[in-house]
Amino acid sequence: MPWAPARSEPNRIAEAPRCPVVAIDGPSASGKSTVAKSLAQALGIAYCNSGLVYRAITWGLIAKGVTIEREPVFKTTVRQMKIECQIEGNELHVRIDGKEPGQEARSPEVNAAVSHVAASPWLRKRLLPIFRQLAEEHSLVMEGRDIGTAVFPATRYKFYIDADPKVREQRRQKQGETDSIEDRDWEDRSRTAAPLRCAADAAFLDSSRMTVEEVVRRLLDELRKRGFPLPEGPSAP
Ligand code: C5P
Repeated sequence: MPWAPARSEPNRIAEAPRCPVVAIDGPSASGKSTVAKSLAQALGIAYCNSGLVYRAITWGLIAKGVTIEREPVFKTTVRQMKIECQIEGNELHVRIDGKEPGQEARSPEVNAAVSHVAASPWLRKRLLPIFRQLAEEHSLVMEGRDIGTAVFPATRYKFYIDADPKVREQRRQKQGETDSIEDRDWEDRSRTAAPLRCAADAAFLDSSRMTVEEVVRRLLDELRKRGFPLPEGPSAP
């Protein structure tokens, strides 16, 4: 059932998503992907990793030898790309010209370039309707950097998950990835278009000393308080 925003929030009505959206933002390796996936499962709704879209596009650009620095070529290449974002099996799938990047979306080359690509205001503007369209038909848990601030500013179900930089570095190393998260975070925070920041109405959580289960439980409690339509029945969260 479509979620209707409170009438006391006139500015929000225009942009309110049709279906309920849980927005989870935070820096790299803050634990938000694991938490977002687990929360979506508990709620029985779709899990959407918005970073995958930026990664898939970066992957497509690298394959064509195009860098963001060559702006006219970059724009032309993106315009010609067929970018498909679909919810399949309760998860976002991204295809560039018909192909999914798979593990290549997390290659060292993509890790090194993705934040430059994502800093493009032009690209972000282009992707906004694609992200918003997903909530026309699906209830979502969407994670990223600007979901609560720019993509779905009207949703009342917002979280910002952070963790100590050392803990985040350790988490990424455990995943076995070559990824300079400090550089990526700096770029994501300092860009002009939709920089990473905690929305004023987001619930903030430091996950440094918490298990995934503890974080998910806290999120569910907060969602309950904020009036999220939680599933009912014996397996309810
Ligand atoms: O979440 P993940 O680390 O996969 O995201 C990769 C990159 O995509 C981020 O470092 C950021 O530059 C960009 N991103 C973004 N906005 C989002 C999601 C990701 O700018 N909503």
